[in-house]
Amino acid sequence: MEQDDLAQPDRYAIVAVNAGAVRPRHARELPVDDDEQEERPLEAFHYRIPENLAGLQPGHLVWVPFGPQYLQGVVMALDDRSPVAETRLIDRLADPEPILNPTQLKLARWISTYYMAPLQQAIWAMIPPGSTEQAEAFLESKTALTSTEIEGLTPGQREILALVREHGPISLSQLGRLARPRTWREMLRQIEDQGLVVRHMEITPPRVRPLMKDFVRVCTVPPDESLSSRAETRRRRSAVIETLRNWALERPDTRGWMLWDTLARESGGTRGDLNWLLEREIIACVKRQVWRDPLEGKAFVPVTPPHLTPDQETIWDTISADLGAGGATAYLLQGVTGSGKTELYLRAVQQVLARGKSAIVLVPEIALTPQTIRRFGARFPDTIAVMHSGLTPGERYDQWRRMRAGELRLVVGARSAIFSPLRDLGLIVLDEEHEWTYKQDRSPMYHARDVALQLRQLVGATVILGSATPSLESAYAAERGELVKLSLPKRIMGHRRAVKEQGSRLTHPVAKYRPLSSEDADALYTDLPPVHVVDLRDELRAGNTSIFSRALQEALDRTLAAGEQAILFVNRRGSASFVMCRDCGHVLACSRCGLPLTYHSAEEDLLCHRCNVREPVPEICPVCGSRRIRYFGLGTQRVEQELSARYPRARVVRWDYDATRQRGAHEQLLDRFVRGEADVMVGTQMVAKGLDLPRVTLVGVISADTLLNLPDLRASERTFQLLTQVAGRAGRSMLGGQVIIQTYAPEHPAIVAASAHDYEQFYSHEIAFRREHWYPPLSRMIRLLYTDADARRAESAAEELHTLLSERIARLGLPEVDLIGPAPAFYERLRGEWRWQILVRGTAPAEALRDVLLPPGWRVEVDPESLL
Ligand code: ADP
Ligand code: ZN
Ligand code: ZN
Repeated sequence: MEQDDLAQPDRYAIVAVNAGAVRPRHARELPVDDDEQEERPLEAFHYRIPENLAGLQPGHLVWVPFGPQYLQGVVMALDDRSPVAETRLIDRLADPEPILNPTQLKLARWISTYYMAPLQQAIWAMIPPGSTEQAEAFLESKTALTSTEIEGLTPGQREILALVREHGPISLSQLGRLARPRTWREMLRQIEDQGLVVRHMEITPPRVRPLMKDFVRVCTVPPDESLSSRAETRRRRSAVIETLRNWALERPDTRGWMLWDTLARESGGTRGDLNWLLEREIIACVKRQVWRDPLEGKAFVPVTPPHLTPDQETIWDTISADLGAGGATAYLLQGVTGSGKTELYLRAVQQVLARGKSAIVLVPEIALTPQTIRRFGARFPDTIAVMHSGLTPGERYDQWRRMRAGELRLVVGARSAIFSPLRDLGLIVLDEEHEWTYKQDRSPMYHARDVALQLRQLVGATVILGSATPSLESAYAAERGELVKLSLPKRIMGHRRAVKEQGSRLTHPVAKYRPLSSEDADALYTDLPPVHVVDLRDELRAGNTSIFSRALQEALDRTLAAGEQAILFVNRRGSASFVMCRDCGHVLACSRCGLPLTYHSAEEDLLCHRCNVREPVPEICPVCGSRRIRYFGLGTQRVEQELSARYPRARVVRWDYDATRQRGAHEQLLDRFVRGEADVMVGTQMVAKGLDLPRVTLVGVISADTLLNLPDLRASERTFQLLTQVAGRAGRSMLGGQVIIQTYAPEHPAIVAASAHDYEQFYSHEIAFRREHWYPPLSRMIRLLYTDADARRAESAAEELHTLLSERIARLGLPEVDLIGPAPAFYERLRGEWRWQILVRGTAPAEALRDVLLPPGWRVEVDPESLL
């Protein structure tokens, strides 16, 4: 027992240790005392608080000893007693400020419970990667070794010992790189047990740290001649001093301190000049933290909000009253693309910020286009943080710290921005709430929409879910009154001024807009574009084997002749969906996943889109030896080629994952198209999102069937959403526009409803289907997925768990829970692993799994987005 036990009052901290996904079985698991939580044990442990950390608070990031390790943990709560006698001491703080606020701590517990994920994972999902430190083991040998000690060792142990003696102290990972024997860890343990080598932990600094930069200011102004005997140098140094003096006059708020990088750029001064001036104390220099800002250099032109349209006005009255009264209502704002939803988000954010509160705006990652960022940045240039996967860890870290400090109060970001450390949250917006990218695909497999709704309960914030095609979940919640539904039925063509401008730029404007009755309104309305569904079976019968139907060809002819733009939408990247032998029908498949490989003509090879394996195209069929290997199906590259063959003078851009992998590539491609430097854009579903392209008058969907035919519970819903969204790209200007959907299933309800722009029709059909089959949102589902390299083991593991669960359900007499499966997943083999799944369905399916410890290899997904 350590000495400070006597001096210290009995104060304990309950710490959730970052032990990764490994749940420490050797340690006792203790419940955290919290009225709102049920008895589920949390993976948190009691530690004693040392005297020098008397100010410790929940949310603090600390270092603690844990078994033989030294780990970081987050203080979940404080306690005046410990349920176990033996407790260890917290070592020190890793960050002086709490890393999570009380709301986030509660939210982490909810996520852990609801999504059946370890608490640590829920917590670490909220902390920006790179900001936490790591401890690493270092090894040193005993100073004096006797010859008998060495003689008793095996050759392998001797080699390890020699390495440690030669290089020690050496880190464990470095030793691993140097050591030849594969069993070096085991050998190391043996010589450690004999006391020949000792280990200690050292903290490696976080990967990301505050960025420090030189700031300088003038102290004295010497006569010019004294600056150098060489004229050139004299001029430079003099320019440095001059620039600094002007800076001090123009920017008194900086007290004359200027960022050296800026100064060097403006004055032409060199590092050598800086040192020379510093040595003579002509200037002074300090290091200061600067924020890495992803928006730096992007000039935001603040724009004044337009007058609202009458529809927007009605909705705004409702929302603004709610924000004012702190009603914390959850809204479902339904409106087609271009109906003015974003303008309402901007208003709501403005009101929330004006009241000193903060706001989170979530958009799907892919919709975080420069256009979206510019729009929010223009309205709130000083207080906006932007979070997406393209940021450097440094940018992410700095914005996170500025939010925590209360300096930035608006975040616009993808899924994980829901965990931003904002104070006094007043508003959460989820735009395109139906998007599947809101679901995290690794543990904790949370859905940002459900987290947002939970957060609303915790802090009393207003929530707005926006979509043209709400998820069945949200529409059903609105039907039952859990969400308040607001609708924007009409599409705004744009601002009166912009429209006028546009009209003057376009060669032959076809006026299709309906001005508002009220004279002073800024907006003009436009109709939704007509949608034409082409039955591809008729094309074949008519002898047309091109990938473009006759209707699409005519429309392309007209669009290109008129100098307008078209978007062609393909549901797959690559040139062919699959490669098949025409003689024996063999389809070339990935040897690890079993899925058809996709041919890429640019590289002339085959790619597995699941595991990214590349293989050359075989010249002969591996099964029958035939040379007649053909490419089937469609991809972006193939469409691009056929287009170029048919319209040699058309300028085509391809927008897909392959073409936009580089940072900034999205922006460039889009800019080219917007500037009118291309006539046709060929793309995957990415083209469906977030773009405002007034010159586009034709949208063609090459094949609507690829998505529709997937055996997934949401296949219909996704097809409808996608078609509606793609269709929304056309005719957003006075030029009007049309949509052509090519399909082999023109009578499918999702396609019929999408072509009529009729969400209600789709919803009533689809909800009836879900009701009939007791699918979500009428029931809830938990997907249990097992993966194993061995096919038979995968199957029997699935059978075993199924038996166990069915017995349990019967024994407990759980009402309204059933099991679907076990069955191989649609993607039966992925990355060399076989996948089997069981679906637990019910009104409260978690009941069936309560206290069940799943064997290793199983993954739990609550509310799965896809069953493939
Ligand atoms: P959504 O978010 O539903 O797609 P937006 O808010 O982006 O719709 O609006 C579509 C277009 O109409 C945008 O160009 C926007 O600037 C413009 N707009 C929206 N509201 C108004 C308004 N009240 N007056 C003028 N233009 C508007
Ligand atoms: Zn063959
Ligand atoms: Zn593969």
